[in-house]
Amino acid sequence: MLEMPHLQGKLFLTAELKVLTGLRIGAAASSFTIGGIDSFVLRDPVTNRPYVPGSSLKGKFRSLLTRQHALPFPHRPIIRQQDQEIWIHWCEAPEEYQDCPVCPLLGEFPSGPEGKRYSFVRPARLLCRDAALQPKVELTDDQGKPERAPWNDSRIRTDLPYAEVKTEVVLDIITAAATPRTIERVPPGALFDCEFVLNVYEPQDLQRLAHALAAMRLLEDDALGASGSRGYGKVQFQDLSLRWKSRDHYRDPQRHPVVPPGADSYATVEAVQTAWEELRGQVQLQS
Ligand SMILES: [Zn+2]
Repeated sequence: MLEMPHLQGKLFLTAELKVLTGLRIGAAASSFTIGGIDSFVLRDPVTNRPYVPGSSLKGKFRSLLTRQHALPFPHRPIIRQQDQEIWIHWCEAPEEYQDCPVCPLLGEFPSGPEGKRYSFVRPARLLCRDAALQPKVELTDDQGKPERAPWNDSRIRTDLPYAEVKTEVVLDIITAAATPRTIERVPPGALFDCEFVLNVYEPQDLQRLAHALAAMRLLEDDALGASGSRGYGKVQFQDLSLRWKSRDHYRDPQRHPVVPPGADSYATVEAVQTAWEELRGQVQLQS
């Protein structure tokens, strides 16, 4: 019989994601174009506000950590979707999996390629929630100080709700004829509310937070969404917080309060990395 993982508690990491250069996380191509836009951003269908899907953050973390640790790829595609073969890093042995910075944190299916079952695989430890757009934008005044303004502030002139329209041209190499295309982007200053939840089953899972924090820092020095090599998608995490809720907290919050009880906020991911060294001592795991 397989042993069920016993939940010890949940570690919550929240952060504001600030857009520093135009961000495009694309929606599926529409069969008709509105206002001549070729490429739209993904929007919440209820509020019409752009959002950052948790799957985009998670996919980016997986790719960045795979490269950071130069993790191997199996000799066959892992996922087949329609006619596409997708190659990703995938641990196939329990000892590899336990020490892997990617697979336990971001997950792999218990059923692998060719219908093989991996009994050592446990649920992905990290949940990446969809990140909603905040009602205010962060602007910088003439002295370089940040200030917040609502989206309908007269200084904010977006072509579409919460988005700019950027025109780019493709140049023909022989004739130099320019073919324009229009792309919708979320402008710099937009803020998204991120929440990451680390499910802790074993002491080693607490160490796995370090990989999630490293992935966030790598993302800040990489790009989110489309066209990173063309300047899009520079983002920064700010105003972060870290909280621990033990398994017993859900049954008796009075006797097992959230740790730490105060509302500590950290300006950078780096500050969280330092704070976590101290906070870790306060996180009690049961046997
Ligand atoms: Zn792995």
